[in-house]
Amino acid sequence: MSELNLILIGSPGSGKGTQGESLQEDLRLPYYATGDILRAAVQEGTEVGRQAKEYMDRGDLVPDEVIIGIISERIQAEEAEDGFILDGFPRTVPQAEALDAAIEKLGRRMTAAILIEVPTDEIVKRLSGRRTCEQGGHVFHVDFDPPKREGICDVDGSALIVRDDDKPDVVQKRLVQYREKTEPLVGYYEQQNILQKVDGTGGPDDVAEHIRGLLATLKREEEMEM
Ligand code: AMP
Repeated sequence: MSELNLILIGSPGSGKGTQGESLQEDLRLPYYATGDILRAAVQEGTEVGRQAKEYMDRGDLVPDEVIIGIISERIQAEEAEDGFILDGFPRTVPQAEALDAAIEKLGRRMTAAILIEVPTDEIVKRLSGRRTCEQGGHVFHVDFDPPKREGICDVDGSALIVRDDDKPDVVQKRLVQYREKTEPLVGYYEQQNILQKVDGTGGPDDVAEHIRGLLATLKREEEMEM
C-alpha cells in the first residue's frame, strides 16, 4: 500500500494500546499514543507535562491546543513518511479537524479510522482490574492477564499499581468524556468514508487478526483502483 495513516478509536479500555503495539510490529510504522506521550511528559516534568497533569488526574481531556501541537509535529517527522498509527488522538472533533488540516498540508490523507467496539460493562471490568507497572508502563489485568507474581511486573520486576486515572470515580469520568467528546468522531469518519468497525470483545489475537484482515481488504481495494 502506498502509505498507511491510521487512527485507532475506542473507549478507554477497548484495547487500543494492545492493538496499536501489535500493529506497530506488523507494519513497522511509528506508533503515537497520546496517553503514553503525556504520561512520559508528566514524569519528565516538562512544561507540557505540567499543563497536562491536573486534567489527566481528574479524568478530563487536556486542552486541544496542547495535544494538537504534539501530534502535528510527530506526523511531519521523516519517520512517519510511509504512515503512522495514532492511538488516543484525535479525541475531539476539533482535534480531528486539526489532523485533517495537518495531513492535507503534507499532500496526504488518512487511510482508515479503526473503531474498536466493546460494550460498557466489559470496559468497566477491564479498567477496574488493570494494573500498570510503575517503571515501564507494562500492563496486566488481575483476572484476564495476571502477572506471574501478584503485584510484580513480569517484564522488569517493578511494582504494579492502579493508575490514578483507573480508579473507579475517574474511570466513570473518562467514560463520560468518551461518550460526549470522542464518540462524535464515529459520525465524522463515517462521513469521510474511512470508518472501519472491529469487534473488540474477543482476545487480543482475535482482534488483531480482524484488523489485519481489514487492512488486507483496503490494500486489495487500493490495488484495484490503480
Ligand atoms: P489514555 O492512556 O489514552 O487513556 O490517556 C490518558 C489521559 O491522557 C486521558 O484521560 C486524557 O486526560 C489525556 N489524553 C490522552 N490523549 C488525549 C487527547 N487526544 N486529547 C486530550 N487529552 C488526552
